[in-house]
Amino acid sequence: MAPLLSIKDLTVDYRHEDRWLPAVKNVFLDVSEGETVAIVGESGCGKSTLALTPLGLLPQDGTCRTTGQVFLNDKNLFNLKEEERRLLRGRRIAMVFQDPFSSLNPVLTINYQLQEAIILKEGKPNHQTAMDLLKQVHLSDAERILESYPHQISGGQRQRVLIAMALVHHPALLIADEPTTALDVTIQDEILQLLKELKTKLGMAMIFITHNMGIVKNISDRMAVMYAGHIVELGKTADVLAAPKHPYTQALLRSLPKLTGSLGTIPVMEGQPPEPSAMPAGCPFHPRCDRTFERCEKEDPFERDSDGRRVQCHLF
Ligand code: SF4
Repeated sequence: MAPLLSIKDLTVDYRHEDRWLPAVKNVFLDVSEGETVAIVGESGCGKSTLALTPLGLLPQDGTCRTTGQVFLNDKNLFNLKEEERRLLRGRRIAMVFQDPFSSLNPVLTINYQLQEAIILKEGKPNHQTAMDLLKQVHLSDAERILESYPHQISGGQRQRVLIAMALVHHPALLIADEPTTALDVTIQDEILQLLKELKTKLGMAMIFITHNMGIVKNISDRMAVMYAGHIVELGKTADVLAAPKHPYTQALLRSLPKLTGSLGTIPVMEGQPPEPSAMPAGCPFHPRCDRTFERCEKEDPFERDSDGRRVQCHLF
């Protein structure tokens, strides 16, 4: 079956003074109907830029350029006019952002902001739809929440409101960009459970962006590990976590604290991801890689299939 979303050879550059700096490089990624794909990586690795691309939310002021193709079913999103793209946002693809406070307008009530989304679908405000949406995201005190301003409800409640807004049109694909990062740990778990429940109930596919390797096991069917704009490893989540192949994935997993076993120092990955303006020659991970060899400093590795896994490393 054809994938719901298909990203083919996508490269995104941002202009800085008189140079174009890469944020995403030669990325291929398919997402099937009903599937959850987690995109994992450190800050600045390009995962949020990748997430914004299908929605057409990258800057349109000449500071950003893209090459490649992004298909939703059989539609190439890069060929659509802005009006067609706008109609797709929310209806077929919806997004939940990281910070629920800055995603809501502080001077408008929740009801006003939710009704804006409902009007787009139903042509007029509908109090019952708003109540049903809030109940769907398990906000029991729905009447009070609707009358509240964003600062009058908690961070977890604000994120549930944003998820409710994203669901107004029953999108085929939900893109969640670090939706739990700004929340405390117990609320994070509740939001994850909610997203999983809604995804199954509504049959949505989901792209879940996170820098937290601990979350992907609970939420995703497949995971893509990003480094310096590349997807360096892609495979079934259980397989990648059980036997990571790329040295970067291995180092990330080694640095996770363990709840069992003897106490000891957690191995920390030395160094920082490269700045886009100072990308090293060859494999971008080679200055930090504990398995680097001569070829790594000269040649950027191609992506290769390795036992059902896609890995971008000269070792494969
Ligand atoms: Fe390490 Fe070389 Fe593989 Fe890059 S290509 S991850 S430097 S072994």
